[in-house]
Amino acid sequence: MNASDTSDAICSAKGCREPAVWVLAWNNPKLHTPERRKTWLACPAHREYLSRFLSIRGFLKDTVPLAEWSAPDS
Ligand SMILES: [Zn+2]
Repeated sequence: MNASDTSDAICSAKGCREPAVWVLAWNNPKLHTPERRKTWLACPAHREYLSRFLSIRGFLKDTVPLAEWSAPDS
């Protein structure tokens, strides 16, 4: 992901079509190597819901404003 493709970023919550403003970076240790980061996008209304979903499973690593998010090697 880079700055040019964040303008149409849509919230990852099921059924939500709101523009995303947060990036939730997560990792499932049963499926992913420790360095791997999956990302979910969240609108303001769903940030809390999605981050709680991930954090109660121990998956959530980071929550970053979309404007500040950059892929590790971009
Ligand atoms: Zn949403």
